[in-house]
Amino acid sequence: MTREPNFLESVSRNFDKAAGLTDLPKGLLAQIKACNSVYQMRFPVRVGNDYEVIEAYRVQHSHHRLPTKGGIRYSQKVTQNEVMALASLMTYKCAIVDVPFGGAKGGVKISPREYTPAQLQKITRRYTAELIRKNFIGPGIDVPAPDYGTGPREMAWILDTYRTFKGDEIDAAGCVTGKPVTQNGIQGRTEATGRGVYYSIREAMSHADDMKAIGLTPGIEGKTMAIQGMGNVGHYTATIAQKEGGAKIICVAEYEGAIYKEDGIDFDALVKHRKKTKSILDFPGATNMKSRKDVLTVKCDILVPAALEGQIHKGNAKQVKAKIIAEAANGPVTANAEEILLKKNVMIIPDMYCNAGGVTVSYFEWLKNLSHLRFGRMEKRFNQGKYNDLVNKIEEATGKTIGAKEKNFLTRGADEIDLVRSGLEETMVMAYDQIRLIKKRKKNVEDLRSAAFINALNKISSDYLSLGIFP
Ligand code: NAD
Repeated sequence: MTREPNFLESVSRNFDKAAGLTDLPKGLLAQIKACNSVYQMRFPVRVGNDYEVIEAYRVQHSHHRLPTKGGIRYSQKVTQNEVMALASLMTYKCAIVDVPFGGAKGGVKISPREYTPAQLQKITRRYTAELIRKNFIGPGIDVPAPDYGTGPREMAWILDTYRTFKGDEIDAAGCVTGKPVTQNGIQGRTEATGRGVYYSIREAMSHADDMKAIGLTPGIEGKTMAIQGMGNVGHYTATIAQKEGGAKIICVAEYEGAIYKEDGIDFDALVKHRKKTKSILDFPGATNMKSRKDVLTVKCDILVPAALEGQIHKGNAKQVKAKIIAEAANGPVTANAEEILLKKNVMIIPDMYCNAGGVTVSYFEWLKNLSHLRFGRMEKRFNQGKYNDLVNKIEEATGKTIGAKEKNFLTRGADEIDLVRSGLEETMVMAYDQIRLIKKRKKNVEDLRSAAFINALNKISSDYLSLGIFP
């Protein structure tokens, strides 16, 4: 086996493996694989009495559809290669879930924990100003969103900075997604990636024959789950899988360590415990594990790495005991590790599908911003009236009275959150069906990642071919 590839090399190897299973022209594949624009910047920010020179990036991987789209990461580990890998994944991700964007990603090389909110605000505003200056942001150009180390707060600062420079643009609110609901955001965006991860696991586990092949019965209910990372994605994946799917979370890891509890961890209680004690360790009834890394090799049905890339590598892949790995994070399994895991018959739900719920709901937010209209505002009352008439007619025809509580439930019109969840669920279900079908039907496709890649490549190449660039 070759040396451990870095993140970009892993993405490249996975791309080549899938591309080799298609009959698309070589030149076209090379164009799809390449990063179109890489903007590397350095800017000064005054921190305390001194100036710090901040290193940052924005990479637009593919312009086959515009705007480009992808999150902004704040981490000390940010490199140009990492941002390029993440931007490429965004292109394939958008194609897989039929979101009409090209892929992009941003990175600022800082550890957010080491700055005050006021300093982070300064850095975010300056980064945004640099993007505006080089035409790397705008509702029709490139639309950032949250990623590791950023959230709705940073997105609100980005919008405000954009408006300062481009206040006359009527669609300015669509320059960034993942904003707070009160600042032109959308209900359900914060939970979207985790909710999407849950739907992806639910779909993968709904096929009895696929589950039999890996030694599991179908369905999430009662299955054991281990989660690495309690940030945005890990948090919502865990709470939704536990409350809506009935999963049993037996192991959780965070920066400070990992805990294990055979009969299941009440995730809400763990969040409260961490808030109070600043640590997940010493959670009542649970055992502290030796190292936070132990979460990756614990015996469980579903392992959810929701922190960073490169967590499962050739050094620990043999010790993985999970039957399913749901890649909530981007690139948590290296290409070397994947070879080992596939031989061990582990099912890997690939990142570019598994965590696509975030960009799906970002797309809904962008549409809301461009239409200047909240989803559900026009039809909610109309539908409510119709359902009411229908229930009244049923009461008349049957001579029976439906109770007030049940009547309210039956006649309720859809709110924004209902429509967002419905659109997200539909997207994740449809995308899984497409990927699974490719895996079942196409010769030599043995894993879900290759099938997902092939699905993306077919869609992206049809865009290029229809432009007549590659006859
Ligand atoms: P986040 O910053 O909200 O949370 C990450 C958490 O992981 C933090 O709490 C951190 O302390 C923890 N962590 C870091 N290293 C760890 C380790 N070695 N062991 C245990 N815990 C560790 O970030 P996030 O937004 O949840 O993103 C997590 C992953 O999901 C990233 O790979 C990101 O690219 C991907 N992702 C995020 C979104 C989104 O909408 N936020 C969308 C798609 C993909």
